[in-house]
Amino acid sequence: MDKKESFHWADLAADNVIQQKGDKDSYTVAAGITPSGIIHIGNFREIITVDLIKRALEKKGKKLRFIYSWDDYDRFRKVPKNIPEEFEKYVGMPIADIPDPFKCHKSYAEHFEKELEESLPPVGISPEFIMQDEMYKACKYTEGIKKALQNKSKIIEILNRYRSEHLLDDWYPINLYCSECKKDSTKVLQYDGDYEIKYECACGFKEKIDFRKKGNVNLKWRVDWPMRWEYEKVDFEPAGKDHYAAGGSRTTGKEIAEDVYNYNNPTDLIYEWIGLKGGKQFSSSAGNVITLNDVLEVYEPEIVRYLFAGTRPNTEFAISFDTDVLKIYSDYDKLEKIYFGKEEISKEKLPKQKRIYELSSINLPQEIPFQPSFRHLTMLVQIYKGDVEKVLDHYEKNKKTELRAKLAHNWIQKHAPEEFKFELQTQAKAELKEQEKQALRLLTEKLKNNDYDETTLFEEFYSICKELNLKNTEFFTAAYKTLINKEKGPRLASFILAVGKKEIIKILETIK
Ligand SMILES: [Zn+2]
Ligand SMILES: [Zn+2]
Repeated sequence: MDKKESFHWADLAADNVIQQKGDKDSYTVAAGITPSGIIHIGNFREIITVDLIKRALEKKGKKLRFIYSWDDYDRFRKVPKNIPEEFEKYVGMPIADIPDPFKCHKSYAEHFEKELEESLPPVGISPEFIMQDEMYKACKYTEGIKKALQNKSKIIEILNRYRSEHLLDDWYPINLYCSECKKDSTKVLQYDGDYEIKYECACGFKEKIDFRKKGNVNLKWRVDWPMRWEYEKVDFEPAGKDHYAAGGSRTTGKEIAEDVYNYNNPTDLIYEWIGLKGGKQFSSSAGNVITLNDVLEVYEPEIVRYLFAGTRPNTEFAISFDTDVLKIYSDYDKLEKIYFGKEEISKEKLPKQKRIYELSSINLPQEIPFQPSFRHLTMLVQIYKGDVEKVLDHYEKNKKTELRAKLAHNWIQKHAPEEFKFELQTQAKAELKEQEKQALRLLTEKLKNNDYDETTLFEEFYSICKELNLKNTEFFTAAYKTLINKEKGPRLASFILAVGKKEIIKILETIK
């Protein structure tokens, strides 16, 4: 059998890391981004890809360091859509040094950093965050900067291989922030070949700095990345497919790492984009940007992990907010049953399925957890108008059921298609045929005098129809119209039992 069929991709990728970087006791895996705006779910794919490979390496007995670099010493390039126009005045400054447009954090960068940082622990991911503005300002990368400056012509040569507009000799691989106006509108006048740079700024300021002592220098992205691979001794870092195009930053980064920093490219992996399916709440005005927190409003953390662990990184997929949500929950419950041997599956498929479950878990349960049906919960939360406490009366209370009920409620409120929504009526308003009324009256009597489970009640509907010579579809439509004022609705027997006989009888008795 093909190796890919029987092994999980994260385990194969971990093997790759060991093969390429050597069999060591510990490894450093990395990810990172410039927090220039909302960190969306596509960026999360990078983070969880690293986390899954970290776990795969740990399973092989390795020690792991997972670093996440915030490139917050990068320049503020342009004002994004949802940011006030007046921020134009900060273009050219480091994003860690400009104010938070939402006024709730220390800086622009921190605003977007914190949102992501706080959303990761719930999905079982806790990287070590490295703030590039702190590293650069504290002159931690002095030697890396010197190497870049000393090898400027080598870097120009590498970059020019992929550029139609060639970089000239007066180009430097750095952004130098002016000490006076804080912007990078500076020009290097002289580099002494060691640690001193003389520059002048468009604001008129001129200065000579020693970058061992003054952290004004930020390496340009294409050089900064390989410099940090060497600085942190990164063994594995994936990247989005755009970085891998000919002349993409991963391609040039590999060459710069080898030629300038004498460092072997970390083991890499390409990950694909994430799409969006359904999700009424995400209007195009917000640019269809969804975050991990948005996904966590509908999916349990383990299921979020499952979506990514169950899909190869090089496969594009969409996060669904439409009725697929129901299927994904039931698929996950099925996977859990398979893991705990409660559902049959072919021997060949079993190991990989079990591995997907392990990698999806946050704390691997010892025995199969209770699985309240998500579909059933979407009905209960509507019956109780979002009162989760009342919904929980139907179950033995536990944290998982409580969370699932809340998520079902979120889904109904924010994303569920109209046909899924209903409101329990208190008064029968529908126009019914005499025969339909008779059938519902008969149902009322039956409910008063008998106890049912879902199966026996379902059978009762059919015997009522038979007795009154009514079409089944007419009976169901009449019942839905009376109870929820819609032509269709949730499975009638389970709905009636969930609402409770007493309540249903009260409504049916208002039929005139
Ligand atoms: Zn803020
Ligand atoms: Zn200036």
